[in-house]
Amino acid sequence: MGSRFEQLADAVLAGVPAGPGDALAVLGADDAEVLSLVAAAGRLRRAHFGNTVKVNYLVNLKSGLCPENCNYCSQALGSAAPILKYSWLSKEETLKQACAGIAGGAARVCLVSSGRGPSNRDIDRVTEMVGALKAEHPEVEVCACLGLLSDGQAERLAEAGVDAYNHNINTAESHHHTIVQTHTYADRVDTVEKAKTGGLSPCSGLIAGLGETDEQLVEALFALKELDADSIPVNFLMPFDGTPLADTWELSPLRCLKILAMARFVCPDKEIRIAGGREMHLRSLQPLALHVANSLFLGDYLTSEGQAAQADLDMIRDNGFVVLGSEEDRARTEPIDPAIRRRGAGTGLVPNA
Ligand code: SF4
Repeated sequence: MGSRFEQLADAVLAGVPAGPGDALAVLGADDAEVLSLVAAAGRLRRAHFGNTVKVNYLVNLKSGLCPENCNYCSQALGSAAPILKYSWLSKEETLKQACAGIAGGAARVCLVSSGRGPSNRDIDRVTEMVGALKAEHPEVEVCACLGLLSDGQAERLAEAGVDAYNHNINTAESHHHTIVQTHTYADRVDTVEKAKTGGLSPCSGLIAGLGETDEQLVEALFALKELDADSIPVNFLMPFDGTPLADTWELSPLRCLKILAMARFVCPDKEIRIAGGREMHLRSLQPLALHVANSLFLGDYLTSEGQAAQADLDMIRDNGFVVLGSEEDRARTEPIDPAIRRRGAGTGLVPNA
């Protein structure tokens, strides 16, 4: 008989959905069980996504200067994080940035702007950008992430060729009021519903490490399942200096793996994306996480730098995965020569220790 997680994977593959108790058991797994957990969740990943990794690329159209007070966000009202602040990129600059991501292998470009929500003029601006991008790269998916939507805006984005809309619920309804006061959980859910009814693929995820309990993480995940989000970005809090959560460090690499595995068990056929905080929190376990998640962001995030894009592509290749939609093998091809040791024993130089 396999491990308890192998048995859970068997059940999920047989069509029995994982319940909240199963999700809590995954979060509470002993560290010694993590490899069997990853192996079991990896079976679900491969059943639905094979060995593909969807590569997404973020373009921050408008950075900082947001009137909302999400306390995890470096762009929020009151944040003193020393981030780049700028108003809307031009269409030309947007295209240039998006094309860099596409050249790196991105199948989806995510056009993101800070702010409570777009004005109709902002929607005009974004639809123009998307028209230009789709004219050059019709094969690339475009996801917009512009904040809370008003009636009719999702339909306008869909008509312009936008494929998906991202609006994260971020955390459980029961925890939401502790992380933001300028809008409600219901506002966020309403925008995801507007995106769906407007013909856009819903992308909605969460942020782990915001002071939530295990039960609240499970609550958030089942809310996303209920919302039927097609893609679920799992973020790990990046505690920026200058924000209220600056000193909040609740995550470990193994904890992050368990959170991703829980998402895979509960939503086995959905795109589970390792999102912000990947490098900072998963650290040397990033490659293992790819055996559970099937999607990541290439390169940099909205206001912070990610690891080198080539390191992301190497990690995908080294783990036996391929970039979804990319015919070209973009991984490293040049050999890596052994570096001859010229320090430590036998030399007068300090050792590498
Ligand atoms: S609405 Fe978006 S950009 Fe503004 S503070 Fe919240 S998360 Fe940050």
